[in-house]
Amino acid sequence: MPGSELFGIEERQAVQEVMETGVLFRYNHDAQRKGIWKSREFEAAIAKLNNVKYAHACSSGSTAVAIAMAACGIGVGDEVIVPPFTYVATVEGALLGGALPVFAEIDETLCLSPDSIRKSITPKTKAVVVVHMCGSMAKIDEIVEICKEHNLVLIEDTAQAFGGTYQGKPLGTFGSMGCFSFDFFKIITCGEGGAVITNDEKLYNLAEQFSDHGHDHIGNNRGMENHPIIGFNYRIGELNAAIGLAQVKKMDYIMSQQRKHKQILTAVLEKFAEVQLRNIPDKEGDVATFLDFFLPNEAETRKVLAAFEKEGVNQLVGYKYWYDNQYHYIRNWEHVKELKTPMKLAAHVLGTPQDYKTLELPQSNALISRLISFEIKIKWTDADLQELSRRIEAALSSVFAKELA
Ligand SMILES: *Cc1c(COP(=O)(O)O)cnc(C)c1O
Repeated sequence: MPGSELFGIEERQAVQEVMETGVLFRYNHDAQRKGIWKSREFEAAIAKLNNVKYAHACSSGSTAVAIAMAACGIGVGDEVIVPPFTYVATVEGALLGGALPVFAEIDETLCLSPDSIRKSITPKTKAVVVVHMCGSMAKIDEIVEICKEHNLVLIEDTAQAFGGTYQGKPLGTFGSMGCFSFDFFKIITCGEGGAVITNDEKLYNLAEQFSDHGHDHIGNNRGMENHPIIGFNYRIGELNAAIGLAQVKKMDYIMSQQRKHKQILTAVLEKFAEVQLRNIPDKEGDVATFLDFFLPNEAETRKVLAAFEKEGVNQLVGYKYWYDNQYHYIRNWEHVKELKTPMKLAAHVLGTPQDYKTLELPQSNALISRLISFEIKIKWTDADLQELSRRIEAALSSVFAKELA
């Protein structure tokens, strides 16, 4: 939980400034708020960090995905290519917006495979939602090319890779819109919050309106302006934005610490021929929230997990075995596979392009079943890292003893 490790005086002060005005709403009350516009400032900081014209903050990463899809015109019956390895919100966003998710395979980047995207395209495909998982990027240049070639909307769910870049260009700026989450577990947090970014003024206006009942926010009295479209309430509040603004100022420090710590643990893993690191298309753009690695097969991965417990690795680092994890891999999404909702979805009426219950994703299964991800902490000390390295090495040695020199 990176950003949340660093809560300090800055976050408390920012919240206090808002409380002193009493205006927790992001619009109106100009006189009473005494120049405190946390949401606006947060948006400006997000836009600057991503070198993009427009950023609009909203209530969560999930609503960011919903807003981006709506603004990009994705709706009933549109097929949207999504990865089976993501936080489930990406898929929910498509389904609740009336679209029909099509699951393509991931590759060893842990993100959508360009080849599999190509194979998943049909005449009904409208968009690709690529997810830059676990702090690092997809083969985004190839995916951009595919989308151009087939005239598809590209949305980047960059919820897990805020601050990441590919060849110097911020993730989230390769397609029509990028989506961020600032929930409690992300690289920076608002408590709950999110944002969309874009260089397209029209999309920005639609996103901004859609997230607040279609209000166009022109003039200084929200409520008395026009409502060009129907929208909903996906607004962020000033208290959340205040925390996000304090956190975004810590991004350089967060990334430099994470990268340093990840490098140290990577060197330990590299001693073992059986350990294969995740493919990162541009290592310099990795925000390093996770250290992801593959073992030779599922059985050996489970042995390594057991060895991590035995050696107490689990006391010093959080780690994920996503294959058994509830909300990040399709294997455990029974509710999605069965389309269980309290109401009728477009997917119920139109039918789904794939039978999710019998869908086979052998390439993704093979990867996720042998993947472990360490959560990189910002506040590890040198002593912590030394002891953690020792335990990881001991655990891996116990499984792969023969490989040790
Ligand atoms: C966290 C996350 C979301 C959802 O963000 P919330 O702020 O929790 O709603 C969406 N997509 C991905 C890839 C995420 O990791």
